[in-house]
Amino acid sequence: MREHSDIVIAGGGPVGATLALALADSDWRVQVLEARADLSRAAHKRTLALSYGSRLILERLGVWSRLDDVTEIKDIHVSQRGSLGMSRLRATEEGLPALGYVVDYAELDSVLHDALRASAVDVVVGARVTTIAHNTGYARVQVEQGGATHYITTRLAVVADGGAGGAERVTREYDQHALLASVTTELPHQGCAYERFTADGPVALLPQGDGFALVWTATPQRVTELLAMPDDEFLLALHAHFGDRVGRFLSVHARASFPLVLRYAQDTVAPHQVMIGNAAQTLHPVAGQGFNLGLRDAWELAEMVRDCDREALGSLDMLKRYQASRRVDTSASIFFTDLLVRLFSNANPLLQHSRSLGLMALQLVPPAKHMVARRMIFGARG
Ligand SMILES: Cc1cc2nc3c(=O)[nH]c(=O)nc-3n(C[C@H](O)[C@H](O)[C@H](O)COP(=O)(O)OP(=O)(O)OC[C@H]3O[C@@H](n4cnc5c(N)ncnc54)[C@H](O)[C@@H]3O)c2cc1C
Repeated sequence: MREHSDIVIAGGGPVGATLALALADSDWRVQVLEARADLSRAAHKRTLALSYGSRLILERLGVWSRLDDVTEIKDIHVSQRGSLGMSRLRATEEGLPALGYVVDYAELDSVLHDALRASAVDVVVGARVTTIAHNTGYARVQVEQGGATHYITTRLAVVADGGAGGAERVTREYDQHALLASVTTELPHQGCAYERFTADGPVALLPQGDGFALVWTATPQRVTELLAMPDDEFLLALHAHFGDRVGRFLSVHARASFPLVLRYAQDTVAPHQVMIGNAAQTLHPVAGQGFNLGLRDAWELAEMVRDCDREALGSLDMLKRYQASRRVDTSASIFFTDLLVRLFSNANPLLQHSRSLGLMALQLVPPAKHMVARRMIFGARG
């Protein structure tokens, strides 16, 4: 562990690792502090839906081609349980090879760390950041490693700990849990992802390999029941809830659950300190926006840091400019996902009717559909 680095990144998850890699060939000395002692054990078991825009970032970093397990999302089918309204976004209509890609969190994490190992970035494992204090001209990072306490000084401490730290954040509980699983179905996915809104919350089926990754949102009580069901009963319950679009559900494995919250910091910067990724904002997984937003945080911060001189690095002035540059994208993503959850997760018959009309209108008005697709692919700033 170095006692001083120009930039210290607290958290080597996919967002922190992306930032480190984007700065690997800069003039700055970069150090990543990661709490996991063993990098072969990913921090989370989950499937990520990456947008085409995120692919472009990972391509520029030279890691995209190293991912083996990538499934293309060619189309996204959006519908509402109990109504006829639906909309289908198509990659061909956007002039893109795919609208997005389904990847495994653990594989992405491992590919990013392989690339970091071959770079000039220092990655320290088993190192848990406990506090960050700022002084005139630098931040002082306190780190616990192997029972010992260390201190590192830096011009810029980047918090990318996924929200594990105790910083003050606005929190909205959704009273929903997400049940995650892998399922196979009677009909092939043909690269189509499904987002189906129900009064209990959205259900997403993301094409992955020969089957689908399932994200089934429901009340905590319902998720507990679903987790406890024998496989055959679970598959029937899923069919009854999701409908017939992919035929019968044939198998399920690796069921797990997460509580869902919206949590974000109103102020993500302080002198010599900035939060990015899930540390800055944790979103509901509807529409798969969270990681894509975090990746854009990392990319834009790297661009700003590359261009600044030593005096400016980590100054409040520089960090406020970064925060302002991210505001539209962040606020729009928070608003968009929160609105989707609140608008669709209820059984009000009037709303049910308007939502159905809204989906039909989206399907019938190509410019509106194009706008939604671009927003999901490239973020609010296009
Ligand atoms: C059910 C579910 C499904 C999701 N699906 C999608 C999706 O389809 N698409 C999408 O874009 N996003 C999705 N997300 C969100 C996505 O998982 C996150 O946006 C992403 O993991 C954020 O990455 P991160 O690097 O900021 O944080 P994390 O992935 O949480 O990584 C944080 C890292 O910091 C380390 N760490 C923690 N504390 C410390 C400390 N004190 N010191 C040092 N290191 C520390 C951890 O060990 C970890 O390695 C989903 C989330 C959930 C819950």
